[in-house]
Amino acid sequence: MRAWCSVGHYLQGVDVIGRVGRYASMFGKNHLFLVDSFVCQMLGEGLYGAYPSLDGCTYRTLTFEGEISRKSISRLSNEAGGEFDVIVAVGGGKVIDVAKMVAAQSGAALVVCPTIAATDAPTSAMSILYSDEGEMNEIVLHVKNPDLVLVDSKVIAGAPTRFLSAGIGDALSTYYEGESNWKTGHANYVWCQSEQAVGTAAGRAIARACMETLERDGRAAVKACEQSTVTPALENVIEANILMSGIGFENVGCSLAHGLGNAMTVLPDGEKSMHGERVGFSTLSLMIAEDYPSEEVERVARFCRDCGVPTTFSELSLAPNDDDLRKVAQAAMQAESWGASPVRLCDAEVVDILKATDALGRRIAQE
Ligand SMILES: [Zn+2]
Repeated sequence: MRAWCSVGHYLQGVDVIGRVGRYASMFGKNHLFLVDSFVCQMLGEGLYGAYPSLDGCTYRTLTFEGEISRKSISRLSNEAGGEFDVIVAVGGGKVIDVAKMVAAQSGAALVVCPTIAATDAPTSAMSILYSDEGEMNEIVLHVKNPDLVLVDSKVIAGAPTRFLSAGIGDALSTYYEGESNWKTGHANYVWCQSEQAVGTAAGRAIARACMETLERDGRAAVKACEQSTVTPALENVIEANILMSGIGFENVGCSLAHGLGNAMTVLPDGEKSMHGERVGFSTLSLMIAEDYPSEEVERVARFCRDCGVPTTFSELSLAPNDDDLRKVAQAAMQAESWGASPVRLCDAEVVDILKATDALGRRIAQE
């Protein structure tokens, strides 16, 4: 069986966030905002500009900070009560994932407004939960994707460029991981009554388009973001990071890049880097492991370097010895996505591949 899922509506452009109330009213009249506390200060009343002209629409706001754990979700659900039919999540990955949980429990429609383009979380039907101590410990697949994802390009351009670069690293993995899954017939992440399904040709085409968009416009988009300016290249890369990568990973599946990138968090300094930074580095490891032509690996490594995606251990704030790398290898091999790759590796081989990735990155840095 082949399976496909995707976000319902997707709107992206300059200053769209001020109209969020109007768009949310397509789905219901009583709106509950879940907002990252930092973002709340940054966007302030600008979020609610449309409400005076919206007949009969009400809104209230809860702020969220901290870890997304089962405990914090039930606390937030209690605070939310039941008087809402649309949840509007505004902020980064954690507030978005918590909003998906509350929306799934309450049956409310979900509008997602990401304020950074660091991951592909906004469009997906997946929440990643952590323990109260901050360890990733549960992946929840929801029946339904968000009803609307609303991306304000000016807000993304105004955020630190590091977030966009991390999003490029995460998005870059989509095509290569999809190809791993395609070769092995591994299941994707589309929820279908606990049955397993593989990706569609449509998903594969979007993953390829994601990679081509990044390679064409990634460098120019990073430059634009450094100047906090919105250009067509930046618009294209925002779409690649959020929409194409989001639809992509869900529909084509993950493999070694996410397996290794997530496994790096077993190291004490593993969380000093961002998810997309670790996954970007690990995409190069995937390419080495799966024996892509060296010209292609070098081309992608240079692209990463130009776009601020880490290609060395030190850029990930790591200085691992062989024991550390063995721990990463062993953790990665436990990941569900590990089996999607067509290659079978022992932990010593994984250690060598990680070292080869770092060596490639250091060589390119010296050129
Ligand atoms: Zn990811």
